[in-house]
Amino acid sequence: MNYHILQKDNLDCFIKSLAKLMKVYAPVAKGYNNFAFEEVTTAGEITLPYIPTILPPKKFFMPQREKMLDFDISKGKPEDTAPLDAPELALFGVHTCDLAGIQSLNMVFSERPRDYNYLRRKEKIVIIGLECNDYCDGHASCALVGNHNPNGGYDLFFTDLGDKFIIHVGTQKGEELVENMGLAKAAVADYSALEKVREAKKAAFKNEIGTDQKKLAEIFAKGEKSKVWQDVGSRCVSCGNCTNVCPTCYCFDMADTINLDMKTGSRNRTWDSCQFQTFAAVAGGENFREERAERQRHRYFRKFKYPLDKFYRAFCTGCGRCTRTCMAKISLKETLKALVAESK
Ligand code: SF4
Ligand code: SF4
Repeated sequence: MNYHILQKDNLDCFIKSLAKLMKVYAPVAKGYNNFAFEEVTTAGEITLPYIPTILPPKKFFMPQREKMLDFDISKGKPEDTAPLDAPELALFGVHTCDLAGIQSLNMVFSERPRDYNYLRRKEKIVIIGLECNDYCDGHASCALVGNHNPNGGYDLFFTDLGDKFIIHVGTQKGEELVENMGLAKAAVADYSALEKVREAKKAAFKNEIGTDQKKLAEIFAKGEKSKVWQDVGSRCVSCGNCTNVCPTCYCFDMADTINLDMKTGSRNRTWDSCQFQTFAAVAGGENFREERAERQRHRYFRKFKYPLDKFYRAFCTGCGRCTRTCMAKISLKETLKALVAESK
């Protein structure tokens, strides 16, 4: 077992030392009950505990807009401008739901054809996770998918033991960091305290959806024609916020910008949303998901059915962001509960 200890009084020293090595991003309060991963240089700028940030850490792995390549049609072959020199940075305080989100994106972007922009950035990012000792708010459903507990995906992982953090070392990169910082090894009493935290979590985190994660694929297979989709579709305004804030939504659009010389230009990609009416429109005027109900069903199937069939894991991390952001008050938990009730 490779666990170390950091006294809370020394968190500031830890952040300052880390900030000397690389840029550090951590949860910072942004108005009432809103948080964002922003650059910090001291612990005083960080707010803990926090409810999931407005945007998940995916913004560091796949920015909202990025240039993929420059081209000059008079030369023929495009120049590769993928970010070979992506800067090294550390994300501090990443919740277990967001660690699961990054793990999902890793699976998607590691598939052939690989996404080298994503993979090069990922190599340079140090991930420091933080355990939630209690539910962040009523919108989270992490207990349904088991993401309230750590399941890897970090270099270091912090658990709050009151006056100190116990830190699990997950990778070689993490090992080097704790050695650099000179953090003491955990003692037997610290392991007992960690066990008590995990034991208390069993009562605090309840799956409220009324089914087991393993049954979701079957429930969704049966629910293709459910009236639930008509209900959420009638309320949805197709703003696309739910997909933008989702830690596992990765769809993007590509567009070429041509300069006035009509020879040179660049190819850029931007986050897209399956909730936009034009998302599934194709040449010839056909639109495969013209109705909002169809697009809502698609969003849920992309979380609870298709990735289970392909990657054997749900792509909903239970973070609750889609519900928090939805101006039509469409709740992921309520939609799932209605679908489960209908399947019985
Ligand atoms: S945030 Fe709500 S209203 Fe907007 S697209 Fe998503 S479900 Fe529809
Ligand atoms: S679907 Fe909603 S609750 Fe699930 S991961 Fe995406 S934003 Fe979070």
